[in-house]
Amino acid sequence: MNSQTEAKAPAGVWAPLPGPALPRSLCTDCGVSRMAEPGRCAQACQFIAPDYPALERQVHGRERDPARADERFFGPYRRMLRAAMKEPRPGAQWTGITTRIGERLLETGAVDAVLAMGPDPEDAWRPRPVLVTEAAAMKHCRGMRMGYAPLLSLLEPARERGFKRIAVIGVPCQVYALRALEKELGFERIDVIGIPCSDNTTTEHFHDFLALLAEDPSTITYLEFCADYHVELRFTDGRKKRIPFLLLPLSKLPTDFFPLTCRSCVDYTNTLADITVGYMGGEGEQWLLTRTARGEELLALLGDELRLAEPGSAGKRAGPVRGFMKNVELAAGGLPVRGMPNWLRPLVGWLMPKVGPRGIEFARARVEMKAIESVLHLRREQPKRMKHMIPAQVWDLVEPYGLTAREGERKNNTLA
Ligand SMILES: Cc1cc2nc3c(=O)[nH]c(=O)nc-3n(C[C@H](O)[C@H](O)[C@H](O)COP(=O)(O)OP(=O)(O)OC[C@H]3O[C@@H](n4cnc5c(N)ncnc54)[C@H](O)[C@@H]3O)c2cc1C
Ligand code: SF4
Ligand code: SF4
Repeated sequence: MNSQTEAKAPAGVWAPLPGPALPRSLCTDCGVSRMAEPGRCAQACQFIAPDYPALERQVHGRERDPARADERFFGPYRRMLRAAMKEPRPGAQWTGITTRIGERLLETGAVDAVLAMGPDPEDAWRPRPVLVTEAAAMKHCRGMRMGYAPLLSLLEPARERGFKRIAVIGVPCQVYALRALEKELGFERIDVIGIPCSDNTTTEHFHDFLALLAEDPSTITYLEFCADYHVELRFTDGRKKRIPFLLLPLSKLPTDFFPLTCRSCVDYTNTLADITVGYMGGEGEQWLLTRTARGEELLALLGDELRLAEPGSAGKRAGPVRGFMKNVELAAGGLPVRGMPNWLRPLVGWLMPKVGPRGIEFARARVEMKAIESVLHLRREQPKRMKHMIPAQVWDLVEPYGLTAREGERKNNTLA
């Protein structure tokens, strides 16, 4: 790591340039391979030999309890809430709760720096890891970028610069590695703010997708897959466009559009964070899970800036999840997915948000769908990895849909 070299960055943002990545077969370049001891990937990687029960005990003091509310789906948590900033922040992906927590940590002096993703100076959609040292500069990190960038490669420069207390905002594959190495990193305190993550891809692939959605894709400033089964686009001139999922031109995307990493990762809701800030159980608002005492403190930092409510839940997920599984089976078997007739699509696109699972039931459905994808895609493309990569909780989630481990696919099983 050459931490002397810095990328162009606004005031209050330090962006040392990461060193080179080492080639790894199943890898989202979380940054560990660029650290002084790249061999730590073996211990830190969620794609090699993850140990979720051990890290749950380390972070939460206990493993997820299937008898406790929704921990089967979302991992250990204390409170689950629907939330919104009363004053949504401009440029935020939703209302800006994530970056506001970072801002408050810096304002109150609780941390020396926040490690998060800003935009690349050449391409606003490309993530670039940065260390934010001034509260006002957290706005630089608002919004979602698509792609991978080596967040954790900035941990060593942060330590070398003398930062002792930091916060990290990351997606689950980054947070897994962070927790696996946390004790050896030498910081006094690391606050972990997790965002859920699914269906990430390279920034290059994402630009190809944008090109299918608008005549001038360079004018798209925002994209989100909303909980009401629509994609929302925003444009430089302030226009908004909402496209039902079923009308997206997905069949035009190449089959390798989503890398196997993102089709097979197993921790959708960022279970090892202190607090998870997402949207998918929020019915159009944000969705929070406080997971540790530290996570409660992070939430408390926002005081009455937040509107909080109990999350709702409606609809039944079993049918849509079964339909999804059928499609993944056909696609994973190399068969074309039989689409619904074009004339029916707008109707179903209109109906889905009204009759499909909503709120917590939608979040449960998405977690089950992701678990099904992980099993089926790994079975087809990397069956030898299944035994090490798929934790027991994923097998428990897919079992009601008739998906069980075959010989050699699960630790301690010879037969399904
Ligand atoms: C690829 C991707 C897929 C996601 N999928 C889901 C999902 O399926 N369900 C769900 O509930 N939520 C998902 N999220 C999270 C969601 O989009 C919002 O980031 C989250 O709800 C926080 O909103 P906010 O307004 O509080 O964030 P803001 O205050 O706008 O802050 C956004 C934060 O996201 C971080 N960030 C942005 N891009 C990246 C990136 N590429 N890699 C790592 N960190 C990044 C930044 O560091 C920043 O701190 C996803 C995020 C990403 C990056
Ligand atoms: S994702 Fe991170 S830990 Fe895993 S192989 Fe890549 S750099 Fe290493
Ligand atoms: S989908 Fe999974 S593997 Fe891909 S970036 Fe998100 S957390 Fe990482």
